[in-house]
Order: sequence, then structure tokens, then C-alpha cells
Amino acid sequence: MKFFEVLLPIAADGVFTYSSHVYVLPGARAAVRFNNRDIVGIVLGEAAEPAFHCSEISMILDELPLFDLTWLNFLKEIAEYYLTPLGSTLFGVLSTKILASYPPKRPYEPKLTTIAPIELSAEQKAVLDEIPPDSPFCPHLIHGVTGSGKTEIYIELIKKVIQMGKQVLYLVPEISLTPQLFSLLSARLGYTIPAFHFRVGYTARSAAFWRFARGEASLIVGARSALFIPPKNLGMIILDEEHEKSYKQEETPSYHLRDMAVLYAKLRDIPIVLGSATPQTETIANAYSGKYLLHRLPHRVFGAAMPSFNIIDMKKEQYPKKFIAEPIIQELAKTVEQDQQAIIFLNRKGYAASLYCKVCGTVQYCPNCSVPYTVYKNGNLVCNYCGSFSKYTLCPICGASETSFAGVGTERIEEYLDEIFPNEIIRIDADKVRSTGKLTELLDDFGSKKAHILVGTQFIAKGLHFPDLTFVGILGIDNILSLPDFRAVERGYQLIAQISGRAGREKKCGLIHIQTLIPEHPIFNVDMYNSQSSFYDYELPRREKFVYPPYTKLCRLLFAGSDEDKTRMEAFRVCETLKREFTDIALLGPVQAPIARLNKLYRYTALIKSNSNKNIVSLIKQSRMILKKEKTDPVSIRVDRDPYYFM
Ligand code: ADP
Ligand code: ZN
Repeated sequence: MKFFEVLLPIAADGVFTYSSHVYVLPGARAAVRFNNRDIVGIVLGEAAEPAFHCSEISMILDELPLFDLTWLNFLKEIAEYYLTPLGSTLFGVLSTKILASYPPKRPYEPKLTTIAPIELSAEQKAVLDEIPPDSPFCPHLIHGVTGSGKTEIYIELIKKVIQMGKQVLYLVPEISLTPQLFSLLSARLGYTIPAFHFRVGYTARSAAFWRFARGEASLIVGARSALFIPPKNLGMIILDEEHEKSYKQEETPSYHLRDMAVLYAKLRDIPIVLGSATPQTETIANAYSGKYLLHRLPHRVFGAAMPSFNIIDMKKEQYPKKFIAEPIIQELAKTVEQDQQAIIFLNRKGYAASLYCKVCGTVQYCPNCSVPYTVYKNGNLVCNYCGSFSKYTLCPICGASETSFAGVGTERIEEYLDEIFPNEIIRIDADKVRSTGKLTELLDDFGSKKAHILVGTQFIAKGLHFPDLTFVGILGIDNILSLPDFRAVERGYQLIAQISGRAGREKKCGLIHIQTLIPEHPIFNVDMYNSQSSFYDYELPRREKFVYPPYTKLCRLLFAGSDEDKTRMEAFRVCETLKREFTDIALLGPVQAPIARLNKLYRYTALIKSNSNKNIVSLIKQSRMILKKEKTDPVSIRVDRDPYYFM
């Protein structure tokens, strides 16, 4: 009898010993019995004979290991860096259903499509030549303005790597996985490309997994989880929109896709190409310091000029009675009349941010969270944090029935604009777009000019290309700037640059109107959008002054419990003890979290600032030791390294 360590995808350490009559190679999958259920895990290697009885592996799924040693090491490094048990890490990066799946029986036959080739511009060619596809590990950053043709450079790189007989992993944010992207790829490469993300459904996803794992497909396009498909012969990773905040996973392990993709490329010793029009400040710092190789594309492909900007001071616009500034309405009228198209961007869905009683002023709150209910046009009140919902009848305090709204959402903007421009509005936001089909339909409608005005949230900020889109109105940017988050200014900058990048991408110049109550804020200085470095020239010294990344590393501790006093006291006790033990680490807090109660749990946070990975790790391990482990109303600590979420 032989013994093997098997890693199981469960919320725990997950490594258990099982026996087998035959030798199993590390990286092969094995089905085992665990807690009275069958579960598929990964064999890590041979183990010593345990002192206790252990059960036998029920079935070995792979003759040859599906996962190679580099993949297993990668998983271990993620677990170590993010301080999560190995089993939870596996569980968090790969779906258990796919882990237990079998390759499709059908042979791989991608659909052939007609090729529509293009010639790269001189600027694009220069960047392409600076990125050798066959080099050892080298991180590249393409900092190219919106519409500079980054995607076409990726495609040329993909072709080169495929010609070398290797595979490419092309990672994009979930919302960029648009039909437009896939039709562009097949128009350039001549066949349909497998997609790996949750919207395509399980069958297609599992097929894509196996096509790539067996080396049948040379290219896979996917969001976060695609990084963890074991490749056959990976030659390059491309990660577009590297600044995208959805690359940070909130669930365990709370990894950042860009950082992990760079680590993975290093472990596989292959080049990685990051791209963005608005790189994250930390990434720019890496490029400035030479850690990443920087390539710039300062111009748009068609020689189209960058858009021009106009900042509207809402203090002069009878705000909040008029929630869209008059100049924006006028521009919309002109746009519609000239058969051009426009986007109105607003970072808030629903009808209104909150509902209050007109008589006593009581705001309707979610019963589980310290957050007001979002109001929908159909009368529903929904909590955007925990999903609970209700209907408004009478004020629970004074019994009055008259209500009023605060904070405008996309539904209300749609309603408002529809009165002025009937049949000219298409709205796109998370509520409207529950499936890829719906998104395609709405974008096709807009593309074929069934309507001239698109109202929407982040969904429309990225990657869209409509030749006649010339005007963009940005509302609600102030909501972003006022968030308690050191990256708020960066987000505001990125949003403005990205959304305005949708306008005037071809011949006609784009115009951007931004309405704000704080026009004096530095990000409304329009020079920021005409030079690739000026935002970072402003932001880097600010980060240095207040000691934020890239000048330090952050780690957030979140204490949560159902008893408020106990949670607060435990947060203070743990933090005070840590402060006494780790005198050379800055530990800020604890303070009540901006969302003080979420899903019935009270929340306190503390922030660690340190440049030493070792110190952060030992402090976190210590904090977990100090925490009281109680059976009733326990207080938990969540650890978030390199946090992106501060609510
Ligand atoms: P980015 O990703 O930098 O915003 P894209 O790669 O989407 O820019 O390019 C913008 C548009 O220009 C796309 O429609 C793309 O197909 C087109 N394009 C890019 N490069 C060329 C080129 N060399 N010749 C013709 N069209 C191009
Ligand atoms: Zn709630």
C-alpha cells in the first residue's frame, strides 16, 4: 500500500492522507470519500504511512497529471501571500464542478470565420517590436490612450505566440467579455475563440477548460478564473485593463488578478503584457522604476483628436432640482438632431439612492445593514449589499404616506430624458443586463441607431466602439470622489478618461461635459486628460506624502460580530495587544467601518501599513492567535492584503 497527500477544495487546510495500491503522480486528480461525500481533489505527492487508519482513493481521474508542479507551486504561493489555507485557496480559484469534470468527447472543431486583416500603424508596430514573444519572464505595460489600438497589438502578439506552437491566455474584466471582442478576435484569427467565464454557461465553460488544458485550443479568453486553467504549453499572458478594480477578488482568497498573473508568468518564465489607458498608480510606479517595461501609445489610431472637455459647476445649475445640467440637455438635442450618438454616464443604478418621509424625514433603511434602501421605479426597495427587499407603504415612524427621493439613479435619468427625447433612450445597467444576450441586444439596438442616447453605469464605460458617438455627459462623479478610499481620486480620473474615451473615436471630435459640485477639484483640470503622465505627476507625490501604496503595503483587518459591544471590545483588545507587540509597524484603528453593520453583523476595521512582507505576515498570524474563539456570538477577523475595498 502507498500513501498520498490529497488536496481537497474545502474551506480548510484541505490536505489529507489517502491510500492507494498504485502509484499516483503529483498533480493528478483523485476522487476520495470525505465527510460522507465524494469529492475530487488533487494529489500533491507521496506521504509517510500515517499512524491512523486512512481510507483509500476511490478513483484516479487522470493518467497523466492535469496540474503540473508549477501550477501547484503557484497555488501554494497564493495561499501563503494571502494567508489562506490551501484547501480554501483551491476552492476559491477553481470551480469544484469543473475540477470533477471530464473532457468533452467531441473533437475540437472551432468554427472558421472570414479574416479581415488590418495593417498596424507605425506607433503600434514600434510597440509590437519591443515585445519579443519568445523572451523569458518580462512584464510589459502598454500605456495607450483610449482608441490607440492596444487590442490590435495583443492580436498580433497572439498570432506570433501561436506560430511558435505555444498557448496564450488573454484575460479581460468580466464586463469587457463582449460579443464585440469575440467577433473582432475571430475576424483577425479566422476562427471562433473559446470563452471561459460564468455567463457562457457550464457546458461551454467546461469545454473551454478542457480544450485549453489539453492544448487543443491555443488561445483562451476569460475573466479572473481563466488564469487557473492548467495550460499545456503556455507562452504568454495578456491582461487588458490592468487597472480594473474587479480584478480584485473579494471572496477568499482575496487575490488581485494582475499581481497573481505577473507572479505566475514569473514562475512559468514567460512574458506578460499588461495594458491600460489609465494604469493604476502602483503599476505606473513599477513601470517608472523599471520593474515593468513601459510602452506608450500617446495617440489614437485614426489620428482622431482626443475629446475636448467642459466642466459644469452644478452650484450654478439649480441643483438638485435640475439633476442634469442645461448645457448637457442642449448638447443631447444637437446630437440627436445631427444623427450622432451620446452616452450619459451615472454610477448608480435604480431610481433613487434613498427614500424618505416628507413629513418627518425618516429614511428607509435595510433592516440588516446600516445602508438606506435603493429605490426602484416599480416601487421595490432593495438593499444593494445584502439583497433584502421591501415595498414602501407608510412611514414606520409618523405614518405619513408622502415620500421623496434623494440621489438620482439611472432609472430616473432614463425617465427624465425620455420625456424630453421620446424613444431615443436605451438604458444599460446591472439590473437591465442579466444575460449576455440582453447586453448584445441592447448594444446592437444602439449600434444600429434605434436610439441615439445610451444611459448607463460602468457597463458602458469600457471597450465600446460606436463610430458616430460624439458626446458624453458624466453625472454623479462626485459620488466617487467622496468615498473614504485612498484610490477615490484615481477612480474618478480613470472613469472620466475611460468614458470619455468612447467619444469621437473616428473622424469627428468628441465632446465631454462633466457636471460637479466641486469644479475646483484637481481631476477636473482638463490637462490631466491630454497628457499620459500628468495624473501620475499629481497622484504619486500625494501617495508618498500620506504614505499609501506604492510607498507602503496595506493590509486591512475586518472584525465582525453579531453583538456590537463585543465586536468593538474584541477589535480594540486585539489591536492594542498587537500594537504593544509590533512597535515598528503602523497599525491604524480600530474604527467603525464606513458600513457599520452589514448582513446583521457589526463591523470594525484596522489598517496595517508596512513595507515588510514578513512583518505583515507575522502580525496577521499573531492577530488570529489573540482572537478569542467563542462558541456564541463569535467575533471573526477577515484579512485583506492589498485591499481595494474600504467600506
Ligand atoms: P484601445 O483598446 O487602445 O482602446 P482598440 O484596439 O479598441 O483601442 O482600437 C480602436 C479601434 O481602432 C478599433 O475599432 C480597432 O479595430 C481599430 N484599429 C486599431 N488599430 C487599427 C489599425 N492599425 N488599422 C485600422 N483600424 C485599427
Ligand atoms: Zn442589507
